[in-house]
Amino acid sequence: MRNNPKLDAALEALHGDMLETLRRWIRIPSVRGGAAENAPFGQEIRRMLDTAMEDIRRLGMNPRDIDGYCCDAEIGSGEETIAVLAHLDVVPEGDGWQDEPYAAVVRDGRLFGRGTSDDKGPGVAALFAMKALLDAEVPMRKKIRLILGCDEECGMEDLAHYEKVVGLPDSGFSPDASFPMINTEKGITAMTLNAGMEDSRLISIESGTRSNVVPGLAVALVEGDYREAAAEAFECENEACEIETSLEEGNTCIRITGIPAHASTPDKGVNAAKLLLMVLSKLGIGGAAVKALYEMTGSENEGRGLGIAGSDEVSGKLTINLGLLSVREGVLSVTYDCRYPVMFNGQTVRSMVAQVLRDYGFVMEPGRDSVPHHVPEKSGLVRQMMDVYNDIMGTEDHPYAIGGGTYARHLKEGVAFGMLFPEEPGLEHQPNESIDIANFYKAARIYAYAMAALCE
Ligand SMILES: [Zn+2]
Repeated sequence: MRNNPKLDAALEALHGDMLETLRRWIRIPSVRGGAAENAPFGQEIRRMLDTAMEDIRRLGMNPRDIDGYCCDAEIGSGEETIAVLAHLDVVPEGDGWQDEPYAAVVRDGRLFGRGTSDDKGPGVAALFAMKALLDAEVPMRKKIRLILGCDEECGMEDLAHYEKVVGLPDSGFSPDASFPMINTEKGITAMTLNAGMEDSRLISIESGTRSNVVPGLAVALVEGDYREAAAEAFECENEACEIETSLEEGNTCIRITGIPAHASTPDKGVNAAKLLLMVLSKLGIGGAAVKALYEMTGSENEGRGLGIAGSDEVSGKLTINLGLLSVREGVLSVTYDCRYPVMFNGQTVRSMVAQVLRDYGFVMEPGRDSVPHHVPEKSGLVRQMMDVYNDIMGTEDHPYAIGGGTYARHLKEGVAFGMLFPEEPGLEHQPNESIDIANFYKAARIYAYAMAALCE
């Protein structure tokens, strides 16, 4: 990377405007609402889209409104286009905020508010990187197209519509995750299996809210008094986890608390449903089906018991989360969320699990398989962007793999690039979401130099 003093001066001159623009964007609670004319995701998101387009115009670019689903704007020239994908919608603010979540409070060098890190901050950083490239008159032999979507958090209908109406470029990046870079996203498949409950003593189980979360609570109702036996059977090294039992009309209610976590990192949590399977299995309740679930998936998150464990060099290990467990009206149902390595085949994983559990009476339902996404580290796109990042940061970092899906997987050759730095805590979707303002400026500089390098 060659240092460009003119570009650095242009970036610095924009700092004040960047921060004020972001604060204005944060003040709009752009949570998905009911559809209206030209506002498929509700009036607040429409207002956010109009505000963003006004700013884009003010900065000397020509925004296009793609039917209220997205807007876009381009700089540069030439045949090829590099896409930059960010989004303007936010998740609801939730509880636990120190400040009003849409007040855009600045304190101790940080800007607080819903959307600061996910994903308005990164969107503003990318937009002002483009503005700096214009101001510094950096020659560009390709085009950079910023696409600001309006439905990343709910259904990703925004980019589906964009792809249909406009068409997406093949290459690009999304500033909607972490630095240095995510170039690999594992495949994701959810597997639901059902079996008849032959042991009539097991009246009910309820555990889990979504397959992509490690359940933090599991509740079972068992015929007879098992209060003492259940408490004795319970074992967990983590002191935050516990079992409570009570007698209700001759039945034992067993209530187990674990620690929730995201399904892509199941080792960060303690699965309450698995602890329940352990207790029931030790008590001999639930028959062969419960015993099989416990023995095959009760003690690890790598799929060893199911025979699907494995890894590859670019993605690391397969992980599997037992996300939903229930017994209702005599049917035992379990749903796993499996994140499998790039070199694996999702259909093979599914059929292996179906085969192993079939002997215990389970039948697998048809389900979705979201294929893995990978851009090789040796590709020009990855090399150029990583060079810029490492030069500015003084590091020798490499891109890495994650188990979740990012916005970048919409592009054939798409990677996630920032804007969270490695040492920073991830505050997206949480109360007191905030960004470090100096790092916000640094990210804009990385984006400007990366865009220049990609368009050289
Ligand atoms: Zn996001």
